[in-house]
Amino acid sequence: MNCTTQLLANEQMTDLQKRDLAHVWHPCAQMKDYEKFPPKVITKGEGVWLYDEDGKRYLDAVSSWWVNLFGHANPRISKVLAEQATTLEHTIFANFTHKPAIEVAERLVRLTPPGLEKVFFADNGSAAIEAALKMSFQYHAQTNKKHKKRFLALTNAYHGETIGALSVGGVDLYNEVYTPLLLDTVRSQGPDCYRCPFNDKPESCSAQCIQYVEQDLAEHHEELTAIIIEPLIQAAAGMKMYPALYLTKLKALCEKYDVHFIADEVAVGFGRTGTLFACEQAGVTPDFMCLSKGITAGYLPLSVVMTTNEVYDAFYDDYGTMKAFLHSHSYTGNTLACRIAQEVLTIFEEENYMEVVKEKAALLNQKARAAFEHLPYVGEYRQTGMVGAIEMVANKVTKEDLPSEERIGYQIYKRALDKGLLIRPLGNIIYFMPPYSITEEEMDFMIATTKETVEQFFAERGATYEG
Ligand SMILES: *Cc1c(COP(=O)(O)O)cnc(C)c1O
Repeated sequence: MNCTTQLLANEQMTDLQKRDLAHVWHPCAQMKDYEKFPPKVITKGEGVWLYDEDGKRYLDAVSSWWVNLFGHANPRISKVLAEQATTLEHTIFANFTHKPAIEVAERLVRLTPPGLEKVFFADNGSAAIEAALKMSFQYHAQTNKKHKKRFLALTNAYHGETIGALSVGGVDLYNEVYTPLLLDTVRSQGPDCYRCPFNDKPESCSAQCIQYVEQDLAEHHEELTAIIIEPLIQAAAGMKMYPALYLTKLKALCEKYDVHFIADEVAVGFGRTGTLFACEQAGVTPDFMCLSKGITAGYLPLSVVMTTNEVYDAFYDDYGTMKAFLHSHSYTGNTLACRIAQEVLTIFEEENYMEVVKEKAALLNQKARAAFEHLPYVGEYRQTGMVGAIEMVANKVTKEDLPSEERIGYQIYKRALDKGLLIRPLGNIIYFMPPYSITEEEMDFMIATTKETVEQFFAERGATYEG
């Protein structure tokens, strides 16, 4: 049957839920699912907790999609936001500037890998990816390399939802229907450590799988402008984690073949992987680094593309040469967002958050491994920094997948929500990456509730499906 507002709403729903379903189209969702599982109406956030209109609370174990770092309604951030809002909320950024943007740029240059000297502001992750792709292409066009006009990306990559970003993405679920619209990208087999084609173990891994990219570079480098990659974690792919050595080798290949390296740290930047930026662990400076999500700790949309003086210089000339980067967004360099980003960096420094992240990641690792590794159907628990993922399989030895039509991750997500825990599914993988401010007690609740939910789900499923 077709969707109608009447069909969506039902008697168990609150007034706000009914009004939401009458007009709101939610992201990344089959809206029909909302008939049976309407959206939670959140009225308050505090620390790691979200409160709904009935006062029920949920532990936000996914940092509201990667963005939250220091808890909801963080008093320190809320205070500077209020102050900034009464002084200057936003200004055009062409030929205008403001202190928060200048300070954020200065500090990001200091904190990111050496050589990234210029900061271009945009307003969300996908927009930063688009800008980096365009800059890389235009750089080559303006340095006598017009033949360089394709991108190379990894299988299962995720770089956002706009057409350019989708073009370098490789998650069929998001891409497939738009295929006729997308750029012709060279796609290389990416790392897959859980099902390593070389049967390597993490301890002895020498990133042999880099050879797939190497082959494609050898074949296509003449026409390639850039490689784009999610450093250390291919997130939307199912939290596929791989060693830093892969990035070190990739950087060397990019230099050898004269192809830009675009590091998409939209998800992993700002401490998620255990270092402030993931590229640090590989000791590489990319040609472009895209940052967003955690940059404002979940307060306002903001993103940046960082690049080198070498790239910048290829655009720097008299106006008449038409070499400028004529790209802009209305909310480019939004003052409120920049003021918050400035405070986020101050909090990292003053509250010693990188030490906090390291300690909590170690604690999480120890507790989560003990809880999950021995469970039936749990093929692997993997973790990098403050990101943990449980991959569920039909058979722990053969690593055979569970049938996707059962939507097992989604079932577990729904059950966990009933118990006051917000984790998220990606197919048969469930993941958490809580705010860094999570306490040990809250971490225990997160792990125990996840474990209980997984166990109960498979116990019931076993009875129904015998499997
Ligand atoms: C979320 C994400 C993006 C897109 O950012 P949006 O702000 O959602 O547009 C790009 N790359 C990666 C790796 C991401 O996780």
